[in-house]
Amino acid sequence: MNTTPARPTCVSTVRELREAVAGARQVGGTIGLVPTMGALHEGHVSLVRASKAECDFTVVTIFVNPTQFAPSEDLAAYPRALEADLDKLAQVGADLVFTPPESEVYGPAHSTWVEPGNVARSLEGASRPDHFRGVATVVLKLLNMARPDVAFFGQKDYQQVLVVRRMVADLDVPVTIRVCPTVREPDGLAMSSRNAYLSPDARRRAAVLWKSLSAAREMVQEGNRDAKAILARMREVLLSAEGLVIDYAVLVDPESLEPVARVDAQVLAAVAARLEGTRLIDNCMIDPPSSSSPQSPIPNP
Ligand code: AMP
Repeated sequence: MNTTPARPTCVSTVRELREAVAGARQVGGTIGLVPTMGALHEGHVSLVRASKAECDFTVVTIFVNPTQFAPSEDLAAYPRALEADLDKLAQVGADLVFTPPESEVYGPAHSTWVEPGNVARSLEGASRPDHFRGVATVVLKLLNMARPDVAFFGQKDYQQVLVVRRMVADLDVPVTIRVCPTVREPDGLAMSSRNAYLSPDARRRAAVLWKSLSAAREMVQEGNRDAKAILARMREVLLSAEGLVIDYAVLVDPESLEPVARVDAQVLAAVAARLEGTRLIDNCMIDPPSSSSPQSPIPNP
């Protein structure tokens, strides 16, 4: 007996996408959108599951968006694995896959951009100056193409979520943004398509990103409030991996992304580092233990 689930319908033009979405809407269905750049892993699959749980019809887009890569970055090398992706999407039960060629997204005269504000300037934005302009523009375009009720994003790209949320609010885009937890490998490394670039040895060392975030969380739960001390420990853990170059290790306000001096309320711990030239990012929320409630144990990765 053949138990392989049928692959979802795959379309590559905006017209076909809109026709398929209109068909689903006509029968009263709600539409969920999961934008991705492909080379899918369990993190992406978790977003598709969340969409299927909430919406009647789930559209996954696979598009390696050139405008969010700087000329010096890995656009050409970015992993592409369409056949394996379609098998994974069949397994999880996505309804429609949109795989546009670049020319379908950016016409030759394309000259309009979404320019995100302050929230895009620090952290990733400081290292990758035009990155969020490309992200915001392509996300708005995909939202306009598919017109979903709900769009699903991962907490792993925390600043991206802030940029998208701000854009949706500022530009009155009629969509609900949902954020799903970061899916991790057994050693805590956040799943990422870019992990495939790492040699087996660097892959082992990459677990220090999560270890540094866990160390920060542990210090806060033990009652430490001093950001300087916590950041020093995070850097120490990161630098225990040979050859790792820190881009940033920060404790910031989760809304403004401004650095905090003390952890008196919820903070975002975020790290970015290079290993063998591969840039890896991760983050987690840290809550100071409240004096009235018992300390919660550190969650497993
Ligand atoms: P990407 O293909 O890297 O552009 O990611 C597409 C979507 O998947 C984004 O919303 C990411 O935040 C999300 N994503 C990537 N990695 C993970 C992960 N490990 N866990 C949860 N979501 C993720």
